[in-house]
Amino acid sequence: MSSSKLTLVAPATGIVTLLSDVPDPVFAGGTLGEGIALDPLETTLHAPCDGEVVQCAKTRHALSLRSEQGVEVLLHLGLDTVELQGRGIDLLVEVGQRVKAGDPLCRFDPELLAEQASSLITPLVVTDDAGWRLRLEAGATGERVERGEALMSLTPAETSVETTTEHTGPWHERRVTLALEAGLHARPAARVRAIVKRHDAEMRLEHGSAEARGDSVSALMNLGLAEGDEVVLRARGDEAEAVLAAAAELLTTPEGVEPPNAAAPDAAVSAPVAEGEIAGLVASPGLAIGPLVAVSLPLPAVPHDGRGAAVEREALRAALERVGRSLESAREQAERQGQRAEADIFEAHLAWLDDPGLLEAAMARIEAGRSAGQAWREALDDEAEQLRATGNALLAGRVADLRDLQRHVMAEFAEAGSAPLPDVPEGAILVADDLSPSQFVDLVERAPAGLCLKGGGTTSHVAILARARGIPCLVAMGEALEGVVGECAVLDAHEGRLEPAPDEARLATIRDALRRDAERREAERAEAFEPAITRDGREVEVAANIGDSGEARLAAESGADGVGLMRSEFLFLGRQSAPDEAEQCHEYQTSLTALGGKPVIIRTLDIGADKQLPYLRLPEVPNPALGVRGVRLWHDQAALLDTQLRALLGVAPLDALRIMVPMVSEVAELAWVRERLEAVVSELGVAERPRLGAMVEVPSAALCAASLAEQADFLSIGTNDLTQYTLAMDREDPRLAARADVLHPGVLRLIQATIEGAAGRCPVGVCGAAAGDPLAASLLVAMGVDELSVEPARVAAVKAMIRRLDAASLARELPDLLAMPDAASVRRRLAEHHESAFETTTITPERIPS
Ligand code: PEP
Ligand code: MG
Repeated sequence: MSSSKLTLVAPATGIVTLLSDVPDPVFAGGTLGEGIALDPLETTLHAPCDGEVVQCAKTRHALSLRSEQGVEVLLHLGLDTVELQGRGIDLLVEVGQRVKAGDPLCRFDPELLAEQASSLITPLVVTDDAGWRLRLEAGATGERVERGEALMSLTPAETSVETTTEHTGPWHERRVTLALEAGLHARPAARVRAIVKRHDAEMRLEHGSAEARGDSVSALMNLGLAEGDEVVLRARGDEAEAVLAAAAELLTTPEGVEPPNAAAPDAAVSAPVAEGEIAGLVASPGLAIGPLVAVSLPLPAVPHDGRGAAVEREALRAALERVGRSLESAREQAERQGQRAEADIFEAHLAWLDDPGLLEAAMARIEAGRSAGQAWREALDDEAEQLRATGNALLAGRVADLRDLQRHVMAEFAEAGSAPLPDVPEGAILVADDLSPSQFVDLVERAPAGLCLKGGGTTSHVAILARARGIPCLVAMGEALEGVVGECAVLDAHEGRLEPAPDEARLATIRDALRRDAERREAERAEAFEPAITRDGREVEVAANIGDSGEARLAAESGADGVGLMRSEFLFLGRQSAPDEAEQCHEYQTSLTALGGKPVIIRTLDIGADKQLPYLRLPEVPNPALGVRGVRLWHDQAALLDTQLRALLGVAPLDALRIMVPMVSEVAELAWVRERLEAVVSELGVAERPRLGAMVEVPSAALCAASLAEQADFLSIGTNDLTQYTLAMDREDPRLAARADVLHPGVLRLIQATIEGAAGRCPVGVCGAAAGDPLAASLLVAMGVDELSVEPARVAAVKAMIRRLDAASLARELPDLLAMPDAASVRRRLAEHHESAFETTTITPERIPS
């Protein structure tokens, strides 16, 4: 390895996410350090460089390497993965071990993480640069990299920028008890370091005989501190008391900025239980009271012996085809209705159905004289037994799926049809050996209060379905469940226990908790579709950005208040000719219909720079980003614009449609489009005119916002291009990506100019990526934008963020923020503001006293 350059390579093949795009303010804001992130497409993470393993989180989700140059790199598998407590993650190395670049470091179960972690995006952060300078080698967000490809490099800085001050004087001391539920993991460790760096003091943390410097993230994490641990904080220097106070407050305040993943089980281990109670793993959290009702579902009866191998072979193939078709249509229907969990399960069943091994096993039994139904039954019995015998909880959790498929195919040969559902009363706590997903779906119609399974696993499909429907469920309860009775039992699927005979006091506690739970859930459910209003009373619309009508459905389901940007160019890309008027109109109409009358902003074709259409044959120019693009294109391609305007005017209702013009740099361009719109309106004899707005993504448009707003019905700030053109940093250049930050005070001043220019004239929205960046979005709201438009998947989070925000208090910081020297300073300051503001407003889920 060269000692004059350190290259950090991709730890897995994956999709790059710039650190600033990581949906976690601590990573995105650079609190832990500079770096890059990767959404891995493989299930093992490898060493990004040669080095020594200097830190492994107890919860296995994070580890750090130190290179021979002293550079420390943190690899953080997924986001919020600390809450998995190590489930689904195998560490392949230990502290002190030396590794070579490319050596495997940890393996993870992608299915479990996908279900239970908020994201698989894996940040790779240089937590200690040892005075070296970092540069990104690869990647704009969304770019694919292969394992081993260079992601970042570090070279010695010409001059050392950091000087360490020697602190002297007496040591001050504080003793605290850690209140961080997930322990001192990467995020709070980074905050401790940030506190130390802000103060003129040095600080150490001691726990037993272990000690760590407060400014070393890896040393802090290596302490392995858990909630409830006693820690001694020692500091010296001029601000020793201040650093101790800030650190003590951080360590003794429960983390609450990010709500826990609602889909994640509370715990994967059975809690100890009292006499007469039965423990189980929490597959779906919640509480229930009800009578215990045992459910057993027999397999359909099928003939045992075959009518000859050829006949049975054919019968089995035909049955598999029929079942395949019905599963496929069930999958499509689930997808249409937005029931993702169900759709995935049908997909998994289809994969089993196609499994050549299963077919072969069944065919062998047919050759041995069995009927098709019996052969299928035996083949799947064997497979289920093999899965169970692996001892792997994840595979064992799939047994219920296999049983479901077994039942489904056997029903094709059933002599007396499918087994009828047992009669269960509403509001019962159902007790069963195991349930297949389709049995579960059928039983759910009887509105059970809860579910207890002898078998199963927390990741089985029944568990997923139970979580999706909010039905409390314990699994893996074992033989203790056999013969259990209870008239009025309590299922505590927070603590993992079934109480068949609770006393009156306990019942009263649970009833009270259930009532409050129901109220809170109701409010949360309602909130996704509620307006987002800041704590100080400002209403902000949260709309969705979409690329086509399929995404319009997602937008509608997300609770979006409308569509803030439909990038119509996606209809035109990747084809041999432009879509005609009818095709376009159909796509626009489908989008409007999906939104059911909420406003839909459709941007006219934005071609040029990175988005080129082969059939337009635009001349090659040296600098396409500054060339004939966006609205400038229309003068030469007026027919394309007219066709699009006609298609747009064909939709109903027209008052829900808004047309937006991209890349406007002067008022005349918007006026020209309005003229053409008027011409098409008269040509078609349309009575209504849709509103016409302009994007503000060029500095001149921002600076002339007042005159633009006179002509426009609305403005929408495209922060992606506005940042690129303000900072003269190509948004496609990965080497500039980390610096092309919307929070640069220069960009912020243009945003402010836009809002001030439009004030009293027309509303202003933001549809660039900044609207979905929690830090930037909060500032945009404080600056006064009327609408944020983000990916459908971010709508609920952005609404929640707005509701926690005191816009006026953040607005008071604006003059200071605008005076800051760079984007990183603004990010840091905003992150601090968020932390204190959110901490006081986050509602922590209640725990039920036992
Ligand atoms: C923008 O520039 O911010 C924007 C929303 O447009 P696009 O990303 O499509 O260029
Ligand atoms: Mg743009």
